[in-house]
Amino acid sequence: MLDKLDKLTVGARFSTICLHAGQEPDPSTGAIITPIYQTSTYVQDELGVHKGYEYARTQNPTRFALERNIAAIEGGKAGFAFASGMAAIGAIGTLLKAGDHVIVSKNTYGGTFRLFDKVLTRVAISFSWVDTADLEEVEREIIPATRMLFVETPTNPVMRLTDLAGAAALAHRHNLRLVVDNTFASPYIHRPIEFGADLVVHSTTKYLNGHSDSVGGVVVATRDDDIEWLTFVQNAEGAILSPFDSWLVLRGTKTLALRMERHNANGLAMAQYLEAHPKVVRVNYPGLPSHPQHALARTQMRGFGGMIAFDVGSLEGARRLLNSVRLCALSQRESRSRSPLSVSTAAPSRRASFSHVVPAR
Ligand code: PLP
Repeated sequence: MLDKLDKLTVGARFSTICLHAGQEPDPSTGAIITPIYQTSTYVQDELGVHKGYEYARTQNPTRFALERNIAAIEGGKAGFAFASGMAAIGAIGTLLKAGDHVIVSKNTYGGTFRLFDKVLTRVAISFSWVDTADLEEVEREIIPATRMLFVETPTNPVMRLTDLAGAAALAHRHNLRLVVDNTFASPYIHRPIEFGADLVVHSTTKYLNGHSDSVGGVVVATRDDDIEWLTFVQNAEGAILSPFDSWLVLRGTKTLALRMERHNANGLAMAQYLEAHPKVVRVNYPGLPSHPQHALARTQMRGFGGMIAFDVGSLEGARRLLNSVRLCALSQRESRSRSPLSVSTAAPSRRASFSHVVPAR
């Protein structure tokens, strides 16, 4: 899948990979930017003779360019772009069968909890919700039916970390796939495959697109059996990312490194400011020495990102703060490029909304 990486040298830097990987000037015109191939199907030269493109659910050059680009950015073998982050996580769910058991980070994104707990349990897949910061606890939960360790690090919203190298070693010792939702870090901060992850998933809606104008998701795979299955399932279920959204995310990844540097700088400055503020009770930011996993963060993260969870002591206090913000827009999802503050996503049944506030820049 990474054949178009040829022009990149082995030592290409992260920002160079972001900018170039997966993309060639358009063969028909020389356009330097991959065009939006907004087509449903492709004309055949004669019956059954085509140029490798038959139907746009199955093959689309704009989507393929994005998939190659993100696979290279994450250091994987192949990428699969989906209509949302949840569709991408749903595709990972199809690697499981009835009777399988999965261990999942306890305070993962609420939508992941909803999908696993309310949908996949209906087909007899079971889940243990564990604090994956504690790998001994993870190991105690492993049963003969366990097939997957699904980790989100940092977690949305409370910024809890998992030791990626430790999780990979544990998973592989027990023959489990390690899946990492890397949405909250971005591959600039860490590339879980380098630590041993088998699959990486993203909501591209966040850092990868970076402009608050597209919803999407991507799975990056390393194992040939997973690549074969995900190729099949992406076409079979059809929850593909559109050509226009693929183009938007490709535009976004070009500036990923630059944006993440700024997120890292602003996130740290904001976290330090909040921690010193008399009305703030607690700040959860891996870059602060007060974060319980700061030492781990320093070993596995390149900067600490732009996501912060902080506690102002009461729901009323949080409501007052959010209703008084002026420059930033209040939104349910993280608006990376527009607002320095937004309400973190929450599963209403599991968390009080408005209790976590996250800066975006
Ligand atoms: N994973 C994480 C960590 C998220 O924060 C989100 C969305 O907020 C998702 C997955 C789901 O992504 P999407 O909203 O693109 O479906």
